[in-house]
Amino acid sequence: MIESVLRQHLLAIALAMNNQGLNQGTSGNISVRSGEGFLITPSALAYEQCTPADVVWVDWSGQATGNRKPSSEWRMHRDIYRHYPQASAVLHAHSLYCTTLACLERSIPAFHYMVAMAGGDSIRCAPYATFGTQALSDVVIEALDDRCAALLGHHGMICFAADLDRVLAMAVEVETLARIYLQALQVAEPPGLPAEEMAEVLHRFKDYKA
Ligand code: 13P
Ligand code: ZN
Repeated sequence: MIESVLRQHLLAIALAMNNQGLNQGTSGNISVRSGEGFLITPSALAYEQCTPADVVWVDWSGQATGNRKPSSEWRMHRDIYRHYPQASAVLHAHSLYCTTLACLERSIPAFHYMVAMAGGDSIRCAPYATFGTQALSDVVIEALDDRCAALLGHHGMICFAADLDRVLAMAVEVETLARIYLQALQVAEPPGLPAEEMAEVLHRFKDYKA
């Protein structure tokens, strides 16, 4: 796709992320694969104030091109593209329910079959590491093993998908699961679905595409 269209689409998804209540203020960041690198939201700039020219292009070595500083989390985004060829868009948010679980250092277990949307029978919580560091990226890549979503301990959540629309949809799904899990926890730890059942759901999801 033409880079100027991708820049506009990226900002539209960033605004939608905040307007849908998935994120707030200058927290969070979004990127999309573009050529030999990726386009990413600028650091510490409210999305309402961003123009397409504020979006920064970063190459695989971490070299940034643009008028602004790239998101402080560019390493996390770069490392996901490097590890997952199927990833074309990455979204990081401080969404309320995922972040609540992340503050409790709790992963989301197989309490609901939709957990398999993230690629397995849990959505793992990565241990805490300082924002913007390679250490954070390293623990996130580990938590994402065989998954397309993870919680970031004492921080937020991250997910990736094949395009920008799908990455927003994935973030909504993961946040909804976190909300339901927290609601269930008010009553009791919900029982988990058996591993064979989650394997069956994963198998069915392979054909579950529009
Ligand atoms: P940026 O404004 O640098 O993207 O940082 C926001 C954030 O969520 C850091 O983890
Ligand atoms: Zn963050």
